[in-house]
Amino acid sequence: MKHEFTLEYAQALDSQDTLSHFRAQFYMPYFQGKHATYFLGNSLGLQPKKTQDEVTNIMENWAHFGVEGFFLGKDPWLQYSKKITPLLCDIIGAKEEELVTMNHLTVNLHLLMLSFYQPTVTRYKIICEAKAFPSDQYAFQSQVKLHGLDPADAIIEVFPKEGTELITTEDITAVIEQHKDSIALVLFSGINYYTGQVFDIKAITKAAHEAGAYAGFDLAHAAGNIKLQLHDWQVDFACWCNYKYLNSGPGAVAGAFIHQKHLNNHNLKRLEGWWGNDAGNRFKMASTFTPTPTAESWAMSTPPMMLLAAHKASLEIFAAAGFDNLLKKSKALSDYLFFVLNHINQPIEKFKIITPSNPDERGCQVSLSVHKNAKAVFDSLLPNGVFADWREPNVIRIAPVPLYNSFEEIYIFAELLQHILNVA
Ligand SMILES: *Cc1c(COP(=O)(O)O)cnc(C)c1O
Repeated sequence: MKHEFTLEYAQALDSQDTLSHFRAQFYMPYFQGKHATYFLGNSLGLQPKKTQDEVTNIMENWAHFGVEGFFLGKDPWLQYSKKITPLLCDIIGAKEEELVTMNHLTVNLHLLMLSFYQPTVTRYKIICEAKAFPSDQYAFQSQVKLHGLDPADAIIEVFPKEGTELITTEDITAVIEQHKDSIALVLFSGINYYTGQVFDIKAITKAAHEAGAYAGFDLAHAAGNIKLQLHDWQVDFACWCNYKYLNSGPGAVAGAFIHQKHLNNHNLKRLEGWWGNDAGNRFKMASTFTPTPTAESWAMSTPPMMLLAAHKASLEIFAAAGFDNLLKKSKALSDYLFFVLNHINQPIEKFKIITPSNPDERGCQVSLSVHKNAKAVFDSLLPNGVFADWREPNVIRIAPVPLYNSFEEIYIFAELLQHILNVA
């Protein structure tokens, strides 16, 4: 289909969209008293209207039953995680037993690195992307130091080729090949937060395994945004936050994946706590740890029930919409976004889209590197009703998400951006 840069055309796409009614299930944010277009689902997803009810259920059970809320009432807390993991299987491409909901992202990254980064004298390097999210860089450096090693020697970053923004799979496999006898762990993001580039998780995992290393992924920008098949791809471990595309609220409880093949590997080290002990005898308070035979054996503490409730409310919306349907709409939205951006970016090029144009190499985020007065261009967006975000030195990121954004919003954004760029 040939796209058009008109409001009528964008509205026609919305009228054919079978998921458009999901937008009404979210609170749309305001700016200066007016509804604004929210393209920041990659940073903090919007609040589903049903989240407050789910959280209230927990509060009411607590009020009525006190600690017996673990066993009584609607959705007793002790079994609550069993309501969550089935809803995540499709989104993560995992078996239920491979999933655990616990802690926060950077904490989980550390806990999983404690298991999967066990350097030896000869194998001690971590291969990662250049310009990883800062929290991940700090995690890698501090883990290396924890083992008495030097980050400058142990952390090998893969850079894009000179003059390009994107890291190709060949760039990554070449570095793995070069260091193959000294690698302990290959640790990438699923999608780079800055460029929006999707990494080939399957190929990276295969290359890591061929080199004799583990492969782990930070899926902060991938979970709920692109199709994942962690189990089939043989990924060793992964972790993600649930407040970005997964709409579970600021500081939401996070997720982790440990491949089935590792669940009964008693050589794998890990930090343990009573919540990872098998539920069947957890309350016997024995002095030896009996692991739950699932990824939940990595959980340590009593789960944060209000946060789990917010997460469940959001995942139920994903299930109602169908994850594959959402991915299809996401592709259609970003296809239209690329069209309108290219349309307004001529005859004079005012920005460069650094996100890959190939739909298989991106999710819904698009990053624009603005050539002139980039900060002023960005600063004009919110007063005109568009939430976007800014990354130094000149990048504007926008992420139209399929659950609550529309084709009309993409059109309106492009028209606004065209106007701002013409006066900038
Ligand atoms: C958002 C994000 C984080 C944030 O970590 P928290 O522990 O949730 O604060 C870390 N890593 C990546 C790659 C991210 O995109």
